Amino acid sequence: MNPDTVYGDLGVSTVINAAGTKTRIGGSLMRPAAADAMREAADDFVRISDLQARASKLISELTTAEAGYVTSGASAALTLCAAACIAQMDLETMSALPDTEGVPSDIVMPRSHRNGYDHALRTAGAAIVDVGGNDAALGTGSVNTEPWEIDSAIDEETVAVGYMAKPETSPPLDSVVRIAHGNDVPVIVDAAAELPPVGNLSRFVETGADLVVFSGGKAIRGPQTTGLVAGRRDLVESIALQHLDMHTDSAVWDPPAELIDRDSISGVPRQGIGRGFKTGKEELVGVIVALEEFVESDHEAEAEQWAILADAMAERLRDRPEFTVRVADDGKSGSVPTVAVELRAADTDAVELAHALRGEDPRVFVGTDRLDENVVTLNPMCLTDEHAAHVVDRVVAHAEKTD
Ligand SMILES: *Cc1c(COP(=O)(O)O)cnc(C)c1O
Repeated sequence: MNPDTVYGDLGVSTVINAAGTKTRIGGSLMRPAAADAMREAADDFVRISDLQARASKLISELTTAEAGYVTSGASAALTLCAAACIAQMDLETMSALPDTEGVPSDIVMPRSHRNGYDHALRTAGAAIVDVGGNDAALGTGSVNTEPWEIDSAIDEETVAVGYMAKPETSPPLDSVVRIAHGNDVPVIVDAAAELPPVGNLSRFVETGADLVVFSGGKAIRGPQTTGLVAGRRDLVESIALQHLDMHTDSAVWDPPAELIDRDSISGVPRQGIGRGFKTGKEELVGVIVALEEFVESDHEAEAEQWAILADAMAERLRDRPEFTVRVADDGKSGSVPTVAVELRAADTDAVELAHALRGEDPRVFVGTDRLDENVVTLNPMCLTDEHAAHVVDRVVAHAEKTD
């Protein structure tokens, strides 16, 4: 433990992160410019809705969406997207959520898109209606959900179609958008971890998605407690009304016109379902600065650096008889090359190795999505050269110990 850092001061071990951008170990390292901006943002008061309007402008420019919004994370953003699709501009429904009695609130989703994060959609009061099967994953067929199955599931209770964006998800977004829009229903895309590539900032919007969600604390490297929404102006307006602090007298309520059309609503809504997902001035400033820097950074150089790091780790581990090593972009981590280390010896297994590494000081976290194949993975995205060398040293040390 390094006593010269705040974590050492607190007596809490730090983590060397070979697992990628995982919230449970701190997500990503914030860009220094964003951290500096947050420090400065703490020195003044500001009207939060003005900052949201400023963020909206930036998100709109970068994503080609009509508007944008910042919440306390992509998960919170999903809840607000569902809330916007259910309530739209109806103040009474906003006030009632998550109670949806008598109000259409179903979100249709291909079954193979269901995942732990869709709890966030249900948090708003939505019920998920999943359609199709899981044949591609099971090997019982190649098609999970036929587009017609989405079409026939949409009825008068449907408020949105939910879509989980991953390189391998099907059916393609454009066909889902066509069906949803043919039924006058918006599409919500969870693209929380789909950066890089940077082109994804605009890709889903350009394909016709009505609301797209990104995490601000993954590759963008803004504050951990930020998430972005890019989407239709009317839906973003509903999100703002259900998220901003509303304890204000209607006589003096004057929100920024770019975000909220004051004249089109009859009064001030109550504190909405998003009030618990608030974003402070520091987070808003931090994510704006991080997003600006993210789009301007040299993505090719960064990808090259990750490839070099992955190859260097793989090279050293290949020399060892205990491991079978492959470098692959396994699709699970977008365009980030990841080292898959399969443990060969009968007396070592991936679970033990992952456990032992986590117990060290500093803790070492490796990827554990493939433990069932006796594989740990090393993702270079959150590693410096020095940390990558440390990870390999420790993996080798444990292998030697169990030889
Ligand atoms: C990380 C992630 C989220 C949640 O993002 P937060 O910003 O941590 O709230 C949601 N959906 C998917 C697919 C994710 O990978």
